[in-house]
Amino acid sequence: MAERLLDIQNLSIGYKTYRGVAKVVNKINLHVNKGEKIGLVGESGCGKTTTMKTILRTILPDIVEIPPEGKIIFNGQSVLKLNQRELYTFRRTGVSMISQSPMSALNPVFTIGQQLTDIIKYSEFYKNPTKKECNEIAINALKSVMLSDPKRLMNSYPYQLSGGMRQRVCIASALVMPKELLIADEPCTALDVTIQDQIHSLLRELVEEKKRSLIMITHSLGVARDLVDRIYIMYGGEIVETCEIDDIFDNPCHPYTQGLLKCVPRLSGGGLTPGIYGYVPDYVKPPKGCRFSPRCPYAIEQCKKEKPNEIKISPGHFVSCLLYQNGTSKLKGDN
Ligand code: SF4
Repeated sequence: MAERLLDIQNLSIGYKTYRGVAKVVNKINLHVNKGEKIGLVGESGCGKTTTMKTILRTILPDIVEIPPEGKIIFNGQSVLKLNQRELYTFRRTGVSMISQSPMSALNPVFTIGQQLTDIIKYSEFYKNPTKKECNEIAINALKSVMLSDPKRLMNSYPYQLSGGMRQRVCIASALVMPKELLIADEPCTALDVTIQDQIHSLLRELVEEKKRSLIMITHSLGVARDLVDRIYIMYGGEIVETCEIDDIFDNPCHPYTQGLLKCVPRLSGGGLTPGIYGYVPDYVKPPKGCRFSPRCPYAIEQCKKEKPNEIKISPGHFVSCLLYQNGTSKLKGDN
């Protein structure tokens, strides 16, 4: 059986607002095995980034509420129970994150070399590395992300680099230490399409070559298909469907997943896709039953009152929708 690296159990996260607690993540379960690449897919505002930031505990504790039944277990260690010193060690050694915006992820007042060598110097992987060793490791990291003239780049400031170059530097800084898990939070949102493809291919090659685990956060099922082994579809702060990546295209079960697939533009034509009508829910007062019910074309009266349970469709394929509660899909004709 595959060894679990990360196990999120029954995790809820609420932001404290002046209107009350916004329950942006609601009782989610998610796991990543060692060496596995998973995708977390959903539209903006559905809780993906909040979940990932909670793994690293980078959201100020004063502004969030995490009920005690929620657990984040990384390599057998309970992340939510780490003290400050243990948390720093965990961040230095366990998980790297590439953020959405390469424009703001790098510190503008330090050179690329200073930023990379600081990561190396203060990590726990190299014992008292000399300045020369730090520089060599940093230059090799820049080479590994196909940046030309890395020695010159070491002395450059972020503003002197293009968006694509900055994102490559961010990937280099995330992969320069042999951490087991890489979280890539929509790493290509701010880049143009030609660069997006290069960055995705680079990420896949590096993660596979270095045998890391990956959580890829994306809006796009097409990107996920290229990069990941398994997928979680998230809507309104809940995981609504999970399965192997091919299953999501062969047998999409949840109405939201089906809507997402219909949003993918087709080369065969047919004009612009209609999209999914409506908006993500108000998290302070989310719908009582299924959170997707105000937007779901298949909603029945029961959906407004009752929360769907997770139903097994096939090994490894689970969906949370009341229409599957009896084990048979009423949506089969739409797949
Ligand atoms: Fe739609 Fe009801 Fe299924 Fe929710 S439970 S996705 S509202 S059919």
